[in-house]
Amino acid sequence: MLRNGLSVSKEGEKMKLFDLFKRKSPEERKKFLYIERDLLVFYVQCDECGEPFRGIVRKNSELFQTYGQKTGDYEISKELIGAKCHKKIQVHFSLSGNLKVIEKSIEGGNFLTRDEFFKLKEDYNDKKTV
Ligand SMILES: [Zn+2]
Repeated sequence: MLRNGLSVSKEGEKMKLFDLFKRKSPEERKKFLYIERDLLVFYVQCDECGEPFRGIVRKNSELFQTYGQKTGDYEISKELIGAKCHKKIQVHFSLSGNLKVIEKSIEGGNFLTRDEFFKLKEDYNDKKTV
C-alpha cells in the first residue's frame, strides 16, 4: 500500500515538473548571464551595425544590492559601446540572491546566448576579412 502511494505521488511530481517546463517558451529558457569566477558575463548584438560583443560585470563593484527597493536582490545597469559604431546599448538585469536572472531589459541591441554570440562572431569576422 505504502509503496503504491509513494509511486503515485512521485509520478504526480514528475508531471508537475514536466508541465512547468512545457509552459516556458524556448526563449524564456535561454540563458543570458554567465558566471565566470568573480565576473558576470553577457552577450549582446548592436542594433545599429550588428556587431556582437561581450559585456562584463565585476561582481564586487558593479553588482548592486537593491535592499528590497526593487524586483530582485541585486541589479546590474550597464552601458556598452561596441568597437564599430558609437551607438550606446543600455542593459539592465534584476537578479535573485543566488544571481539568477529575474528580469532583463536592453535598449539599442539584443541579448545573445553564448552559443549565438560565438556563431555570430564567426560570421561577423568572416565578413570583415573578405
Ligand atoms: Zn554598433
